[in-house]
Amino acid sequence: MNVYSAIKQLVQRAILLNLIQQEDEIYAVNQIMSLIGLTDIREEQVGYELSEIPNILDELVLYAVREGVIEDLFEEKEIVSSKIMNVFLSKPSEVNKAFYERYLEKPEKATEYFYNLSRNSNYIQTKRISKNSSYKTLTPYGELDITINLSKPEKDPKEIAREKERKKVSSQYPVCLLCAENEGYTGRIGHPARSNHRMIRLELKDEPWYLQYSPYMYYNEHCIVLSHFHRDMVINKEAFERLFEFVEKFPHYFIGSNADLPIVGGSILTHDHYQGGNYEFAMARAEDENTFTLDTFPSIHASTIKWPMSVIRLRSFNKQELIEACDRILEKWIGYTDTSIGILAYTGEIRHNTITPIVRIRNKEYEVDLVLRNNRTNEEHPLGIFHPHQDVHHIKKENIGLIEVMGLAVLPARLKVELREVEKYLLGEPNKIEPYHIPWGEEIRISYNKEITSTSVEEIVRNEVGNTFLRVLEDAGVFKRDEQGQAAFWKFISSLNT
Ligand SMILES: [Zn+2]
Repeated sequence: MNVYSAIKQLVQRAILLNLIQQEDEIYAVNQIMSLIGLTDIREEQVGYELSEIPNILDELVLYAVREGVIEDLFEEKEIVSSKIMNVFLSKPSEVNKAFYERYLEKPEKATEYFYNLSRNSNYIQTKRISKNSSYKTLTPYGELDITINLSKPEKDPKEIAREKERKKVSSQYPVCLLCAENEGYTGRIGHPARSNHRMIRLELKDEPWYLQYSPYMYYNEHCIVLSHFHRDMVINKEAFERLFEFVEKFPHYFIGSNADLPIVGGSILTHDHYQGGNYEFAMARAEDENTFTLDTFPSIHASTIKWPMSVIRLRSFNKQELIEACDRILEKWIGYTDTSIGILAYTGEIRHNTITPIVRIRNKEYEVDLVLRNNRTNEEHPLGIFHPHQDVHHIKKENIGLIEVMGLAVLPARLKVELREVEKYLLGEPNKIEPYHIPWGEEIRISYNKEITSTSVEEIVRNEVGNTFLRVLEDAGVFKRDEQGQAAFWKFISSLNT
């Protein structure tokens, strides 16, 4: 593909996808030319096959590097690529207008429009996401989702060194990755390019909020709902109110929040935000285990569910009662101590208990899952008592946040290669198995024995990754799934009515 046909192709694609109109063609071509340092263009070549947008973008960026318009650095390439796509995008006010016109017809139409826009504008990194290795694996708790995250581009060491040499601009703008000021922000070394970023304005509890999709989405229509204000994450009554208000506005989406304490929270605690989407996780499919009633909330159907972590599920048509009940459970949990199973509410002044909440509408009824969390550490478990333990760190040692809680394991890229070596090890072939996988490999060998063949080994390892993830979730559960743990869970539930 030469650069001239690449530009033409990209503009044709944009017209086909309705990002721009035919009348915009000449203008768009000229804008792109200027971004990659072209002042002259040859006659259009005929008969080419349209390539996908990310591939055409790669061509154009490559040209800009070759011509010395930009340096061969990841961030600089991202900036140009994002600016090129911005040529096809309307201003935020126009995007919002188009969104809300469709919303009046049906909320699904509005999210469908914005989701497609975010994909077509390459804001959602579809090409990189497609590199992820994802599958489902059956466990006693239903089908869990496993994703080995390969979408984050790996930089070669030379590039990292060169970026280090270049002075990092020390900047407080935008303050963080989730701040509203990212909308249309060019980007710089150390901060992603966001020229092609657009956000939908929302009001939640009389405050300005925004809706966007995740550029590295892990499930269908993975969206992020973020506050206009750069302020800490907090789980409180207002947070519950906002979650319910959101599903009222978008009944086809679930929404959840990461917990608000380190270890049990997500990676960004400093900007108030939630995550939602159009996807049914294994946890949503988990069945009731034990049901109970809550005094003063007669409309609410309350239960624990069959899930490796400790979850209280509440269902009702009465939103206000649900918000009050969530708040009561949160308050009780924050102050709850049961030393017999290692749950301490505080160490001195430091609080340990919090909740990961998820809200959805099912058959027109509100449903909320409250996942009880505790972030205490001790000498035996310095990374967290209710956190993946040492023996499963070879698969996962990162925080167990909202997405994992619901049953989707996001696993580190290193596993792609490492698991292949585990397979060779199990087959008795020459291998480079990492020493930390050997005890696990031995367990697999013992339990599967002769079943391990060159045709079955991949499936066996996949299943065992699923079982290990299950163990990860059990480790994160505050009330264990044994008799003692479940009795303690029931004791807590009884305390809700006192
Ligand atoms: Zn922020």
